[in-house]
Amino acid sequence: MTPGIRPLIAGNWKMNGNARSAHELAEALRAAGPSLDASLLVCPPFLHVSLVASALLGTSVAVGGQDCHAKVSGAHTGDISAPMLRDAGATHVILGHSERRADHGETSAQVMEKAEAALAAGLTPVICVGETEAQRVAGEHEAVVGAQLEQSIPLGFITSGGIVAYEPVWAIGTGRTPTEDDIAAMHDFMRRELVNSWGPTASVTRLLYGGSVKPSNATAILALSNVDGALVGGASLVAADFLAIARAV
Ligand code: PGA
Repeated sequence: MTPGIRPLIAGNWKMNGNARSAHELAEALRAAGPSLDASLLVCPPFLHVSLVASALLGTSVAVGGQDCHAKVSGAHTGDISAPMLRDAGATHVILGHSERRADHGETSAQVMEKAEAALAAGLTPVICVGETEAQRVAGEHEAVVGAQLEQSIPLGFITSGGIVAYEPVWAIGTGRTPTEDDIAAMHDFMRRELVNSWGPTASVTRLLYGGSVKPSNATAILALSNVDGALVGGASLVAADFLAIARAV
């Protein structure tokens, strides 16, 4: 945790659920929001953003998308723009998730363009970075993450409260996590890099950890230096688990 930063527990629902389960999950979070020491964000699939935003209207639980296009509108079949997300009730958008980078070949340069579009639409981007297992074994994790930070964060991101999530690719959905020392070392590294590049404002940029966060490891992870919250995948689909992680703050 970083003094002066309210932790954020963000749920990435990925390509899961249907209208009914999305609504039920939103309803379960609705009641719990105010009693927590953390802010909550949920990122449903595009189709359910609107209904989840309606269900959470008037609560402190924020809603986000899982991606957006870099353009505002146009001939881009199947894509969703940042203003569309905003219009549907979203305030945040996850960008550069490793599944987007792997499944859609997204580059850091594209992530930067998307983040610019998000900021222009008034959305808070949550930019994801992280190394593969091979890069970690080769000792390249800091170089990889440093380059991703440098190449995906646009001007105005830090001053607008943009959020960074460190998600080692090999820890996502695998039940494996780096050691607490390794998480803390990476978060300290990211803080130093951001402050070096963007100045003292970056000392309060929220740095989330993501990758197999669950109720049983949340307390230890969330207590680490410069870990200001979590980006939760699988465990965010079960309201009780997601809330248990939020209560671990
Ligand atoms: P996981 O996913 O919690 O299921 O590992 C995290 C993420 O991809 O954001």
